Amino acid sequence: MKKRKIHEPGINPIFTYIQNRKCEHCDAPIEDQARASKRHCASWVDEFGIKHDCKRQKHADKHSREDEFLQALNAGVKDNNKKIDKMVAEKGNVVTTEVINAYGIELTKCVDFEFDGRIFKSQFLNYYIYSNPISQTHKIERYE
Ligand SMILES: [Zn+2]
Repeated sequence: MKKRKIHEPGINPIFTYIQNRKCEHCDAPIEDQARASKRHCASWVDEFGIKHDCKRQKHADKHSREDEFLQALNAGVKDNNKKIDKMVAEKGNVVTTEVINAYGIELTKCVDFEFDGRIFKSQFLNYYIYSNPISQTHKIERYE
């Protein structure tokens, strides 16, 4: 019968832990004797045969956070686009800031943004909005 290697992270009496180094994923102690570049537990297999890999897991978690962030950003941009659709259909393509606010359009939730010293140009999925901060008017231009 083959013997399965089981190693759990944690305090090991043959090492010292004076530098107080910890795994960046699970906070398990890392021995002072480990090489300086070691920032995660060595991968290990638990009693159920499941492989634990803190370095890989940390990156996977980071990516899922990035995905959530991008989804929220995406939803905000799409939501704005729908509100602009509705506003243009009902109020036409030149409106005041009051109308923009009444439709709940957030000009900061745009895809891209430019300012030429006079006019703010914000890009949305299907529209450019040219905003004049002095006259508080906005001209909306549709593009495909
Ligand atoms: Zn760890």
